[in-house]
Amino acid sequence: MSKPALHVVSLSGGKDSTAMLLRMLEENMPVDIVLFCDTGPEFPQLYGHIRKVEKNTGIKVTTVRSEYTFEYLFSEKPIKRKKPELQGKLGYSWAGPLMRWCTNLLKTVPREKYLRKLNDEYDLVEYVGIAADETERVTRHCNSRPNVRLPLVEWGMTEADCLAYCKERGYDWGGLYDKFGRVSCWCCPLQLFGELRTLYSDFPELWAQLRKWDDMTWRTFKKYNTLYTVSLKAPENPSK
Ligand code: SF4
Repeated sequence: MSKPALHVVSLSGGKDSTAMLLRMLEENMPVDIVLFCDTGPEFPQLYGHIRKVEKNTGIKVTTVRSEYTFEYLFSEKPIKRKKPELQGKLGYSWAGPLMRWCTNLLKTVPREKYLRKLNDEYDLVEYVGIAADETERVTRHCNSRPNVRLPLVEWGMTEADCLAYCKERGYDWGGLYDKFGRVSCWCCPLQLFGELRTLYSDFPELWAQLRKWDDMTWRTFKKYNTLYTVSLKAPENPSK
């Protein structure tokens, strides 16, 4: 006997997934679950945005989280190391282009765990907010996941279209998109140098937390001296 379909919309809270959700609702497409994976170090404005989406659409957003906090995985978790020079060092430390442990452990794993429970009962259809002009991501997702739909690609909506679409409907993320090209974890080492400068100048409390975490860990944040260069303050731990 075939299972009933369950339509799950992934909402990162950014402009693309928000535009996808809003347009799906406007076009009366089926939306059963709206799923938000909370990594922990998200901008306060992003949490505010999620609440606004809930209030305006009347849809309860389902939030999933890892059983571990970002901070624990980052700087406290004991890890078996192959490299002798890393023996005894705790936590995964800062992510790098080839080591995005946080994307996996804080987003993918909790999401997959949540969806696995539903999989026995339902035929899941997942909706992912990849914009039409994100060519590499479009190819990757189309090839790997047959039950995934990419409505923004079907509609031909680019990243710029998505931001305009959301703004027209009153979503402004407290100005985050006026300052940052992407709204993801504020402590992400993969963000641009200019965005780190904005974090330093406009979000002093988050910057202070970033410096604190940097002092607690062993891997260099981005390139050597990046944090020093941004803040023009001497690094508290010059050996890193
Ligand atoms: S945005 Fe950066 S810090 Fe956050 S999960 Fe992705 S790679 Fe990790």
